[in-house]
Amino acid sequence: EGAREPDPSLAARRAAAFGPAVDPLFYAEPIEVLRSEGVWITDTSGRTFLDAYNNVPCVGHAHPRITSAIARQSRRINTHTRYLHPSAIELSERLTATCPPELDTVLLVNSGSEANDLAWRMATAVTGNRGGLCTDFAYHGITEAIAALSPEGWFGAPGPDHVETWDPTADPSALDAAIERLRARGHAPAATILDGVVTSDGIFDLDPAYVQALAARTRAAGGLWIADEVQSGHGRTGTHLWCFERFGIVPDFVTLGKPMGNGHPVAAVITRSDIVAQLVGHTTLFSTFGGNPVSAAAALAVLDVLDDERVLDRVQRTSHGLRAALLAIDDPAILDVRAVGLAVGVELEGDRARAVRDRMRELGVLVGTTGRHSDTVKIRPPLALDEHHVPQLAGALGDALSSTRR
Ligand code: PMP
Repeated sequence: EGAREPDPSLAARRAAAFGPAVDPLFYAEPIEVLRSEGVWITDTSGRTFLDAYNNVPCVGHAHPRITSAIARQSRRINTHTRYLHPSAIELSERLTATCPPELDTVLLVNSGSEANDLAWRMATAVTGNRGGLCTDFAYHGITEAIAALSPEGWFGAPGPDHVETWDPTADPSALDAAIERLRARGHAPAATILDGVVTSDGIFDLDPAYVQALAARTRAAGGLWIADEVQSGHGRTGTHLWCFERFGIVPDFVTLGKPMGNGHPVAAVITRSDIVAQLVGHTTLFSTFGGNPVSAAAALAVLDVLDDERVLDRVQRTSHGLRAALLAIDDPAILDVRAVGLAVGVELEGDRARAVRDRMRELGVLVGTTGRHSDTVKIRPPLALDEHHVPQLAGALGDALSSTRR
């Protein structure tokens, strides 16, 4: 498909079709995307951008092994999981094989929100508790139950009565205080949910001992632990496939999404059979699209590529080089560089981050912003990003900082 003029009516038609509550487009000048490959996105005019933002195309945009797995399976059969087909079963076996033995059961769904919603529903059912704990500026999803655990979307309004938040950069007693505030309102915790790289809070490299202390405090108060690996899983941190392994904890629920199908919608909850057994006779666990053979084929192909291309090793190498290149940028506006594998936050002085992000887009490099004050440049590329892309990425950040200096 060749380049063509961007369609000037598309943004207005989008606004009319989706309505005013849908998330805004990225960048002051939105990008009309046409095609992609690896770490590259090409717009309709034929301009190619280095994608240092999108985590969903985990092993790279349009990876041929994923696209052919999807195409091959969709030509054969696609249906739900009430017929026998090996793909979803093999996927579940492959996932539990990557986890500690207690985590022996997999429920396949379609989005990170749905995975978290199901984990939350199981946590409330088995604990009999209704309270929930999340970080101060977390995002975990769109359903009613999970929006309640997603303060990023509360727009500064007070949270629901059954939810408390804590500052993930404070010491573990911040969680005790949050549990105490819940208790004062008559709620015991059903679960604490944590994105291991705390993406929306601003990306922080949490200390294993700290997370172990949080998990112990949650359990002492009667709650379960939900490791939301939608951002932090599938090798993002480089050291482990799952971030909970990095922390040395065994969660009660592990939720997966975004990168799981490299862009194809597929998500999962990994949990314990003794938890799921308590739901028998109370609820059915069935999702029409969850675990369909095409989604399962995509997710299996992602696991294969993560192994065959030794993606975690590449993440560690690229992260190391990127961190060094970012630290070498000599600009007083950079207050902090936080790299957890290829989840990287560059905290900037004042309100510079959005202008820097938009300038980097003009320079051909796509990044985002994050944090409660949107003061941190979010670099969270496909894990196909390699050391040789680092100079372009860090160079664009340095140039954007100097050309937007006030
Ligand atoms: N958990 C985390 C940590 C996320 O970042 C997101 C999506 N931004 C979700 C859950 C929800 O996933 P989805 O959009 O697939 O429902």
